[in-house]
Amino acid sequence: MKVKQSIPKELRYTVRDFNKEFPTDSACIEYIKEQRYPGGVTECAKCHVERKHHRVTGRTAYACDHCGTHIYPLAGTIFQKSSTSLRLWFYATYLMGSTRCGISAKQIQRETGVTYKTAWRMFRQIRSLLSEEGDMQLEGPTVEIDETYMGGRRKYQRGRPMRGDKKKTPVVAIVQRGGQVIAKAIPDVTGQRLMGLVKKHVVPGSMIYTDELASYNRISVLRGKGGEDLGYRHRTIKHSDGVYVRGDIHTNSVEGFWSLIKRGIGGVYHSVSPEYLQTYLNEYTFRYNRRFMGNQQFRAILSRVSERAS
Ligand SMILES: [Zn+2]
Repeated sequence: MKVKQSIPKELRYTVRDFNKEFPTDSACIEYIKEQRYPGGVTECAKCHVERKHHRVTGRTAYACDHCGTHIYPLAGTIFQKSSTSLRLWFYATYLMGSTRCGISAKQIQRETGVTYKTAWRMFRQIRSLLSEEGDMQLEGPTVEIDETYMGGRRKYQRGRPMRGDKKKTPVVAIVQRGGQVIAKAIPDVTGQRLMGLVKKHVVPGSMIYTDELASYNRISVLRGKGGEDLGYRHRTIKHSDGVYVRGDIHTNSVEGFWSLIKRGIGGVYHSVSPEYLQTYLNEYTFRYNRRFMGNQQFRAILSRVSERAS
């Protein structure tokens, strides 16, 4: 993957911009309120009609202009039960949205001055917002698929695990060239499993590049639920011959994604246990899919706060 060295001006968002936009807890809660109830307007539980609400000084509540009944913009969000200042939450979110290769809970602790326990909790809560929608489909027309094994205590390593190494989990990545990625930790790399993922996530008619793993053999004959030909075309790269690129036939995009993950896990997380593997994959997928947004990733994470509110 080509890494852009400079971020276009309109996409830049520095810590100075952050401090200016979010100087206080109040500014932060206003932001969440505007996301969830633009202009403070929402149905009042008592009036049963749309009412404007105003901020209750010193509280996280807004009151109905007509009857005074409260609404709470933080209810159901990751910030709801926290005693940590909202501004520190926003700052931790800014840090997580400003890095290319990931940031650790330790770094959040250092930058915000909260305890490690608190930093770790914030880190996990913010990261929980970063999963993509499960039924996302890649539009093609050119897609690369590759599998690898990750996790366990040993260092990141490509290729199949040693026999009996059950700590390593198979991971498959499906990348649309020049576009988005889907990455999944999966129980096995059987043809049935991989073909299910192709049908679910790749638009019919796409050209698909893979390595020589036999599980991919049926791509070009896949049929839909009604028996219709899905029209996938398939080319393989013979990595065993030491050939990695033949004209358009390569898996460089998916290799770029693996190297991004490798840098993150090697440099930041050190090792990944199987139960957290998918959340790590989600975080890197989120970053990769927004790699042209510059520091506006911060805003993309913030909009998840209200989208994912329960
Ligand atoms: Zn009311």
